[in-house]
Amino acid sequence: MSESMPASSRFNPFAFEPEAMRRLGYRVVDRIVARLLAAERDPPIPPDPDTAELAVLRQPFPAAPRDPGAVIDAAIGSVFGHTMNLMHPAFFAYMPGPGNFISALADFMASGFNVFAGTAPYNRGAFEVERQTIDWLGGVFGWDFPNSGLFVSGGSAASFIALAIARHVLLKDRIDGAVVYASAQSHSCIERSLFLLGFGPGQLRLLEPDAQLRLDPAALERAIAADRTAGLRPFCVVGNGGTTNTGAVDPLDRLAEICERDGLWLHVDAAYGGGAMLSAGARPLFAGVERAHTIAVDPHKWMFQPFECACVLGREQAWFSDTFRRLPAYMRDTDAAGELFNYRDMGPQVTRSFKAFKLWLSLQVYGLDTFRAAVDHGLALARYAERRVAAMPGWSVVTPATLGVLTCRYEGAGGVSRGDRVNADLAQAVGRSGRAYVTTTELFGRTVLRFCPIHPAATEQDIDGTFDLLQQLAQQADRGERA
Ligand SMILES: *Cc1c(COP(=O)(O)O)cnc(C)c1O
Repeated sequence: MSESMPASSRFNPFAFEPEAMRRLGYRVVDRIVARLLAAERDPPIPPDPDTAELAVLRQPFPAAPRDPGAVIDAAIGSVFGHTMNLMHPAFFAYMPGPGNFISALADFMASGFNVFAGTAPYNRGAFEVERQTIDWLGGVFGWDFPNSGLFVSGGSAASFIALAIARHVLLKDRIDGAVVYASAQSHSCIERSLFLLGFGPGQLRLLEPDAQLRLDPAALERAIAADRTAGLRPFCVVGNGGTTNTGAVDPLDRLAEICERDGLWLHVDAAYGGGAMLSAGARPLFAGVERAHTIAVDPHKWMFQPFECACVLGREQAWFSDTFRRLPAYMRDTDAAGELFNYRDMGPQVTRSFKAFKLWLSLQVYGLDTFRAAVDHGLALARYAERRVAAMPGWSVVTPATLGVLTCRYEGAGGVSRGDRVNADLAQAVGRSGRAYVTTTELFGRTVLRFCPIHPAATEQDIDGTFDLLQQLAQQADRGERA
């Protein structure tokens, strides 16, 4: 792999001259750096592409090769010019994932070195990186080393695998009459996972949460008792380590207590909120998370990784392999023994990309303190936003800043009460301004604006600017109403 090695004389239709490869690579790096530098000037949501640009993308594929530089440049304009600008500091919608440059390089390296992360034999370095990163992640949630888990595409895949493990380990895959409990604020991936695993809609109890939108342990106990009386088999509780809507953390200690007493599985969905475990201030909210059987966490949300990067953690290595391992003859040669094991045996995927590498590399380069401070920054900014809204006439805080999420609502000024419509319109108008982006959700039967200001470069000025704009837009809307 030396730089000075002569190019192979072998014909490879996919190869380029070394100089051409470098040129193309530098060109791509230049374009990425340009995008990063423009991130705060480009709008958070892109303008609609014109039809000519879309036509370029829908061109039939050519039979003969084309100039790679020209194709790449055209793609950068018409593809990446029309994607959400998640690197914008005032992208406050959903769970913004601004990514980071080192992890982007890591993804490039994983593809460039074309790493197969399914087997440990002959991939020992990749294996150790994944194992080390999972050990660390388990430690973040208070588990002792060594830890078991698997990198997957996202929180949805992580919870799907966790629930498959729960079904296998606790139910021996016999699902008739088995019941899962979760708060009605849970992510839709729980319902979808159970559907994929063969459970009927009546086998998931979505319980009404308490006033803070957390799963209510008393309601859970009542539901479990009622189901037992009815001859059903309560078997699993899904606790939220930060709901998508409001960042609410379920009382995990109480859930763990109930699960331990009744022999139920505790899965914690910390897809979004898991990042907050890096904050000493937020960690107490998660008391009891270490008692979970399985945990889902999305480093592509609050650990600043580019998509896709998620992890399912489980307390026992054997749970994963008991559930998923198959050893067909054509894979025997790379079966792993002794200290080694194969990640292909621990989940549904055989061929796997090297998703652990970006988290590992970025932790190695930036250091833990950088991540901790970045999470703390987002938490503080959401609290700042809450104080800002509380001081704005006509506005109300619907749920306080919890784990970096704030929801609020324009109620109307001057005795005129305003409804859902105006709040939905305000979110749209902010997006169209090109200066910020927020989305809406529904809480307590009403449309609310939802802010998630966790970009590490977001500032109080970004919050001020967005709320000034919102106030201006709200007043405009009120004038329109009266006219
Ligand atoms: C985002 C999210 C998910 C889904 O994760 P993906 O990575 O989008 O698949 C699941 N649960 C919670 C709480 C989330 O916030």
